[in-house]
Amino acid sequence: MAAAASSPPPTNRVDAFWHDGMLNHDTGRGVFYTGSDPGFLDVLEKHPENPDRVRNMVSILKRGPISPYISWHTATPALVSQLLSFHSPEYINELVEADKNGGKVLCCGTFLNPGSWDAALLAAGNTLSAMKHILDGKGKIAYALVRPPGHHAQPSQADGYCFLNNAGLAVRLALDSGCKRVVVVDIDVHYGNGTAEGFYQSNDILTISLHMNHGSWGPSHPQSGSVNELGEGEGYGYNMNIPLPNGTGDRGYEYAMTELVVPAVESFKPEMVVLVVGQDSSADESL
Ligand SMILES: [Zn+2]
Repeated sequence: MAAAASSPPPTNRVDAFWHDGMLNHDTGRGVFYTGSDPGFLDVLEKHPENPDRVRNMVSILKRGPISPYISWHTATPALVSQLLSFHSPEYINELVEADKNGGKVLCCGTFLNPGSWDAALLAAGNTLSAMKHILDGKGKIAYALVRPPGHHAQPSQADGYCFLNNAGLAVRLALDSGCKRVVVVDIDVHYGNGTAEGFYQSNDILTISLHMNHGSWGPSHPQSGSVNELGEGEGYGYNMNIPLPNGTGDRGYEYAMTELVVPAVESFKPEMVVLVVGQDSSADESL
């Protein structure tokens, strides 16, 4: 087949995992992320984490310049039992009950609305399938394009628009499947506090986060993201926070990667690499 002959070789191919059902997580409108209407605005703003954001990522990958390198896959929702590898039963039960009761504000700006839970299970399911794809040797690079996002979700706490820690679940699957060491590198502009918290006492998972120096933002996000948060117990030294000054550009990221991230990853010798690639760092980022 001509298409097969011209397909990129597996080493250059990205296996993308996506399901339209993730668009059904409706974060609503209001003043920025508050969801509230003060009563005197003509136009209520979309929540920053809205379906259009990801819809454009799908279209870029489907019609943009790297589209020939993408193979598309889809997955079924995660099972509740699979979520317990990272999250506490009490927390998962809270989310299930919130969904049954028609929704809940879990913390500032983080709304579980009708449809949100099914979308969250799809996000977790697609991320787990992406990891399984790699574990089964079916590809070299898998990309789980998912929402709601996950890296702020802690074992027992929603935070920052995140309910389930998709990357954390994928890490657990890799370890449960025989990987001895997994590294997580998170380049989202906010601290990947949920992933760090979940593995804070583990020495078989190295968590690295590059982020702006926003510090704690309240009870749902008590972690500061400072260089002093290094892990605890056996995990001491296995959490690396790299706060970057506002205005850090490509050269700053490259320097941090070359001088800090790459040497740490090389000395850790991971058998699996999980990249958390939130795309909210920009010259205009003010939060
Ligand atoms: Zn972010």
